[in-house]
Amino acid sequence: MEIPFHKPYITDEEIIGVVHSMRSGWLTMGPKTIEFENRFAESVESANAVSMNSCTACLHLALRAIGLREGDEVIVPAMTFTATSEVISYFNAKPVFADVETGTGNMDVSKIESLITGRTRAIIPVHYAGQPCDMQEIMEIAKKRGIYVIEDAAHALPAYYRHKKIGSIGHITCFSFYATKTLCTGEGGMAVTDNGQWAETMRVLRLHGISKDAWKRYSKNGKWQYEVVDAGFKYNMTDVQAAMGLAQLGKLEWMWETRKEIAEKYNEAFGRMEELIVPEIKPDRQSAWHLYPLKLNLEALKVGRDRFVEELARRGVGASVHFIPLYRHPFYKNRYGCRMHEYPASEWVYGRVFSLPIYPAMMEEDVQGVIEVVQHLAGKFKR
Ligand SMILES: *Cc1c(COP(=O)(O)O)cnc(C)c1O
Repeated sequence: MEIPFHKPYITDEEIIGVVHSMRSGWLTMGPKTIEFENRFAESVESANAVSMNSCTACLHLALRAIGLREGDEVIVPAMTFTATSEVISYFNAKPVFADVETGTGNMDVSKIESLITGRTRAIIPVHYAGQPCDMQEIMEIAKKRGIYVIEDAAHALPAYYRHKKIGSIGHITCFSFYATKTLCTGEGGMAVTDNGQWAETMRVLRLHGISKDAWKRYSKNGKWQYEVVDAGFKYNMTDVQAAMGLAQLGKLEWMWETRKEIAEKYNEAFGRMEELIVPEIKPDRQSAWHLYPLKLNLEALKVGRDRFVEELARRGVGASVHFIPLYRHPFYKNRYGCRMHEYPASEWVYGRVFSLPIYPAMMEEDVQGVIEVVQHLAGKFKR
């Protein structure tokens, strides 16, 4: 048995779309990219969608849009991917880590207010594994303190918080279309916002700081004149990627249903086992189930997480760990001097958590295979 941690779900629809784009002669940003943006904005219930070549680029330009400056501070969860936080360092601003909840892995909202200073400009919540954070509380804190909320929704497509789509709540929301994410274009990202001015700023900056619809320059009706209004970036998406994205968008709901079914099977199989701790699900929201983060009850086991993941791999089950907390990495330790004992919940989760395969290309027998291997190992290493 060999069950990789992830396999993208690619069918003839993506292949035909990509081939069509290639044959059309228009490879870079063009009509397909604009169509993808429009359909994406609609699907997450936002007024504007700005595509880019990664979610990291989206987070970067979102911070530019809100006017982040050197010396400012931005609050991020301590347990996330470095992309959430590295973009703050681009500005010589300071990422301030908030500890997470042990049950959901999301930013613990009770920790946020005490981290806010006169320099805090924004909060970047991460919807860990796809489950939305406590957005009402986060938006209320932000409003009260006059700061912005930029959601890192790399895991949260599609996801709901109190009947609202993720993408329709924060000031700017950033999605990822990286190869392993719930909608994939190989590489890619989308920033959505109801603020038209921010959307325009991001549109200009993603393509060299060239004003207005620069991509139309080479079309039949395009004009050769353009103006550079800022030192922009080369962050645009391409029509080849957008063609893949459009095909993926069409089956986003169905792919979500299949992940939900797998999560339910895992919950059912592991929920009553003393050796394992299933993810906490809050009742007023729906996870995208990008990841299935399972935790070990170390008190009931003779082995730790590292050994457990190794044994899974030996039996053909690809698992991964999300995430090594940021304060453990040399860059953040050296540059910002953060220390582990300040984040007991992140440490607790990090010592126990690992992610199991969860994707629509998994067959019924793959899911059963994963369950059997995990149960076998839990029994074998029971204390
Ligand atoms: C994948 C990921 C990103 C970065 O996405 P890219 O599209 O690869 O730039 C950011 N944040 C989190 C939490 C992620 O998992």
